[in-house]
Amino acid sequence: MEIACLDLEGVLIPEIWINFAEKTGIDALKATTRDIPDYDVLMRQRLRILDESGYGLPDIQAVISELEPMEGAVEFLNWLRERFQVIILSDTFYEFGMPFMKQLGYPTLLCHNLEVNGDGKVVDYKLRQSNPKRQAVIGFHSMYYRTIAAGDSYNDTTMLAEADAGILFKAPDNVIAEFPQFPAVHTYEALKLEFLKASNRNLS
Ligand SMILES: [Mg+2]
Repeated sequence: MEIACLDLEGVLIPEIWINFAEKTGIDALKATTRDIPDYDVLMRQRLRILDESGYGLPDIQAVISELEPMEGAVEFLNWLRERFQVIILSDTFYEFGMPFMKQLGYPTLLCHNLEVNGDGKVVDYKLRQSNPKRQAVIGFHSMYYRTIAAGDSYNDTTMLAEADAGILFKAPDNVIAEFPQFPAVHTYEALKLEFLKASNRNLS
């Protein structure tokens, strides 16, 4: 058996912060790990903007409640789970991610937590650990699991490099250009083929 590690936002579900930015009209909240590679810098910026504009967790969750997985994501995930043990490694927060897990059939999700005060204000965030995606792959390797990983952004690249095979999915041009060592695909059908190619088992 092999483990498949999948990023969440941009791979199975839309970017939560971008959707929230569009809903509120706050352009500065559109920045993601695609634009700012340092996650702490990005999150500090997001928390500062939320604080300045007076938005809290309930406002973000209201936007999330209207979002759905990307078209074809549920079918792809079910296909993958028939062939691999799938773990979702995300830099989102359980407070954002869990509504999507219901829509995706509750796959295993490893991500972070927000710290929210009694008024719903997001006061801080707690990373599960530093470099969490890469560390998870190291952990699976310590259990002798062969691991194949797919993601779309800068925060996935150390996970892709640590895995036995890494795949870029729907990555922007700048990420594809910076990391030419990873195959880059843009459809779930092509992603399935990359997983089949990367596997050391005889799958179809
Ligand atoms: Mg992503």
